[in-house]
Parts: sequence; structure tokens; C-alpha cells
Amino acid sequence: MQHEMVSLQRRIVSLEDEELEVMATLEDAQRTLDSLVAQIAAADERLVVLRATRDERGSEIEAELAELLAGRAPLVEGFPEDLLALYEKLRTNRRGVGAAELRQRRCAGCNITIDAAEIEVIRKAPEDLVIRCEECSRILVRTPESGL
Ligand SMILES: [Zn+2]
Repeated sequence: MQHEMVSLQRRIVSLEDEELEVMATLEDAQRTLDSLVAQIAAADERLVVLRATRDERGSEIEAELAELLAGRAPLVEGFPEDLLALYEKLRTNRRGVGAAELRQRRCAGCNITIDAAEIEVIRKAPEDLVIRCEECSRILVRTPESGL
């Protein structure tokens, strides 16, 4: 009987130790959970700010685009339809740039220097002939700085 009491007492002490360990583990887990909940709350707040910024910037870009399109309309008046269609096609396929200035014998679209023979062909071409870059196919816009 005495032996059984000692054994049960040891078992009680052992279970109390285990309970303390479990409580310590639970406290660590609760601290981790609290930290993660705080991080989620901070991320949610940041997300709200970023979405508001995105929406605001999106509205600004839309307004800017509408203004640019309104300004573009009078500029393209008088251009032949086929030239505008070519420009739009090139613009779509050339990352938004369908025409580029020919500047100092270099295509400003792809930055390739046009060879001397091609420059000679361009020099002799009528002013209203559409010239295109052999490298990137963009429409080349001739100016006094073209180097012709
Ligand atoms: Zn080019």
C-alpha cells in the first residue's frame, strides 16, 4: 500500500511536469498565433492602401489616356487610312511604337544604324513615300536631323 502511494505520487509529479510543458508549448503557440494575426492585419491594411493607390493611379491613367486620344484625333486627320492602319498594326506588334524618327542615320525605334546604301535609297525617295526600317519594320519619320 505504501509502495503504491509512492508510485502514484511520482506519477502525479510526472503528470504535473508534463502539464507545465504543455502549457509552455501552448503559450509559445499562442504568441506565434498572435504574431501571425498581427502580420495578417498589417498586410491587410497595406493591401487596402495599395488597392486605393492602384485605383487612384488607374483613374489618373484613364483620364490621361482620354486626354491623349482627344489630342490625337486632330493630329491624324488627313492621314491616309492605309497608312494609319499600317501604323496601328506596327504599333500593336512593336511594343506601342509603330513609327520612329530616323535620326543621324539611326532608327530611333530599334537603334540600328541604317547602312549607307539604304540611306542613299531613302535620300532619293519621294517625301511622301512611306519608308520603313529594314530591321524593325517601323515607319521611319524623316526630319532635318535624319542625316540624309
Ligand atoms: Zn528600326
